[in-house]
Amino acid sequence: MTEKLYLDRMELREFDAHVVSAEGPELVLDRTAFYPAGGGQPSDTGNVAVGGRQYTVVDVKRSGDDVVHVLDRDFEEQRGTEVHGTIDWERRYSAMRFHSAMHLIDGVIRAHFHSSGMCTGGQIYTDHARIDFDFEGMNREKALEIIEKANEVASEGHEILIKYIPQAEALENPELVRTEPGRELISRLKTVRVVDIAGVDMQADGGTHVKNTKEIGRLQLTDFKNNGKRNKRVIVAFC
Ligand SMILES: [Zn+2]
Repeated sequence: MTEKLYLDRMELREFDAHVVSAEGPELVLDRTAFYPAGGGQPSDTGNVAVGGRQYTVVDVKRSGDDVVHVLDRDFEEQRGTEVHGTIDWERRYSAMRFHSAMHLIDGVIRAHFHSSGMCTGGQIYTDHARIDFDFEGMNREKALEIIEKANEVASEGHEILIKYIPQAEALENPELVRTEPGRELISRLKTVRVVDIAGVDMQADGGTHVKNTKEIGRLQLTDFKNNGKRNKRVIVAFC
């Protein structure tokens, strides 16, 4: 099992680790700060260095309890070798800001627009994020109103904390785990990792986040798509 440094040390940009296995360009380490794609957040990129040799990390994925680093070429070092990993921080930090922003928007909708709809999913890209809604009657004006409210709440400077709570407690609170696949995942865990945007939103999550909503900055609506009566899609970017 790979020790997942990104879960509790989200600010980590560099780390040392040992090679557990390598098959062609796929490398497994005993610990990693590289985030594997999941939960709407893209994988990190960066590099791993061994001695004077450097390999580019082009993709990172999960495989059971392991994290697999996909390199630009075959990894030709021995098992047990120490490597130094460096994450492309600009890309990661942008993903963290977007990820926290998505939770914040979720919280804002629950607090101010709950009767009309909810977020159903999203995906973060390098320079924008897509958020999907099940939201009756949402139009561009309503979307702008939601983003403006989110910007206002972000500027208030709410702390973002990672907490661990027992599984039973997590399952008791439907607000923490909002989807059926999420509940199924949680039912296999002893403790559940929770992202708490103090006073705004709290939900089970495996992603990386900024430490304060002020770091999110200002969002702008760059596109709005009406995909049906309730099915709406919003694209946001940083101002
Ligand atoms: Zn999330």
